[in-house]
Amino acid sequence: MSETLFTKIVKREIPADIVYETDNVLAFRDISPQAPVHILIIPKEEIESVRNMTGAEHGKLLGEMIDAANEIAKQEGIFEDGFRLVFNAGAKAGQAVFHLHMHLLGGRVMKWPPG
Ligand code: 5GP
Repeated sequence: MSETLFTKIVKREIPADIVYETDNVLAFRDISPQAPVHILIIPKEEIESVRNMTGAEHGKLLGEMIDAANEIAKQEGIFEDGFRLVFNAGAKAGQAVFHLHMHLLGGRVMKWPPG
């Protein structure tokens, strides 16, 4: 199976502005930011969508992604003001890249409901 766009970023085969990395998780700036801070937090492992995850199998990994989000929010100076975490699951929800990613958005006032 061909590797995903985000696996190519993990392998440094295509460039990205990487802001955080552990053994299991990578985070980099979105190429088309929707807020002053817009970072994608991904597992290095190829998981298609949050729909393919279970707490039993992936709970630790999800916890590491939340740790990453909190740490990056502090690095970016948006931890106290607030930020938004988003998973788009499936095409109708706006998922375009089928390698799991959590959007970290902040640096401006967020509207609700989202579009
Ligand atoms: P989705 O719509 O699947 O939830 O989010 C995919 C995100 O990946 C989009 O916000 C899009 O701007 C971002 N993206 C797509 N291609 C690239 C790329 O090559 N590099 C980076 N850094 N972000 C990308």
